[in-house]
Amino acid sequence: MTFDVERARAETPGTRHVTHFNNAGAALPPQPVIDAVTAHLDLEARIGGYEAEAKARDGIERVYDSVAALLGCGREEVALVENATVGWDMAFYSLRFDPGDRILTAMAEYSSNFIPYLQVARKTGAVIEVIPNDAHGQLDVAALAASVDDRARGPAKLISITHIPTNGGLVNPAAAVGRIARASGIPYLLDACQTAGQMPIDVDEIGCDMLSATGRKFLRGPRGTGFLYVRKGLLERLEPPMIDNHAATWVAPDRYELRPDARRFENWESNVAARMGLGAAVDYALDWGLDAIWERIGSLADLLRDRLSALPGHEVRDLGETRCGIVTFTAPRPAAEIKRGLATRGINVSVTAAPSTRLDMEARGLDEMVRASVHYYNTEEEIDRLVAALR
Ligand SMILES: *Cc1c(COP(=O)(O)O)cnc(C)c1O
Repeated sequence: MTFDVERARAETPGTRHVTHFNNAGAALPPQPVIDAVTAHLDLEARIGGYEAEAKARDGIERVYDSVAALLGCGREEVALVENATVGWDMAFYSLRFDPGDRILTAMAEYSSNFIPYLQVARKTGAVIEVIPNDAHGQLDVAALAASVDDRARGPAKLISITHIPTNGGLVNPAAAVGRIARASGIPYLLDACQTAGQMPIDVDEIGCDMLSATGRKFLRGPRGTGFLYVRKGLLERLEPPMIDNHAATWVAPDRYELRPDARRFENWESNVAARMGLGAAVDYALDWGLDAIWERIGSLADLLRDRLSALPGHEVRDLGETRCGIVTFTAPRPAAEIKRGLATRGINVSVTAAPSTRLDMEARGLDEMVRASVHYYNTEEEIDRLVAALR
């Protein structure tokens, strides 16, 4: 398969200014995203915010169809929110835990998920159980299956894992986890923040019941956008932890009624222009095709890993059987110094530090790594430039 990199770059103004390897932080937006955001801001400025929203109504509604197409779900199962964390929190804090209930998670879990586990465990007496990794450094599926079956340890009430962690190339076996969740009837929450826009997602194939993601990372959407998927059937039984006059209607002085769809996890006010940009970003990714994107990203990441491995003193740290576009490595100098030095040469990378993924980092004795995350619009020449600068 050939990828029209020239077209991708021509449609990405940022590629003329920077060599961007911080796509896991926020990718460069393509022109259609920029246009969608600015067009709506212009409309708001011209005719008024509420009036602009009314005029853009059909376009706003189409964003739900776009996200549903990206995930392989129904539009009524999609909530559009401010970021992945808000989506994840709305799902997680809707669940009820009693003392001794087990929350099953994995080594690569993200800080903003693990901190809520700790809070809920402290408040309810629920227990966090971390499933160990297998020999590849990914979630051990057999250990998860054994833990689910071990009723003597208390009821397993939730399986909640990160698909692709913030700190490396690992892709956890999300679909194998989904088969266990389904067979046991345990709700399954998947953090797909680094997955969306990078690889194909099909919520039925994965078997997750809830999934959260962000707009600005591999999807190339605007900052301050995110979405939550909740499976119909489950969502009707979930009462969000915070609700307002968008999530519910005040139908009598002493009564409210929740919306029947996933928008019960949203709130009333939103950045409409950013939402339009998110829709454009999803359409743009679907246009390229997630299979083609995934293949292109994978080949660039493999190339970068090969080149880094040949660089004295540098060590690639990515785990897992399947590896994605996030490439992390350690080097003979502090990560922040490397990031600064590269920035002076117009190359963007980021630093990933222990508090973001503490379990994994501590288990591997790592304080920090340099993270160079590739996207399909990066080139082999840019990889050469990065490696030369590191040398
Ligand atoms: C970035 C990230 C998040 C948080 O996303 P926000 O949009 O910043 O809330 C959650 N999980 C993972 C794995 C991430 O990399």
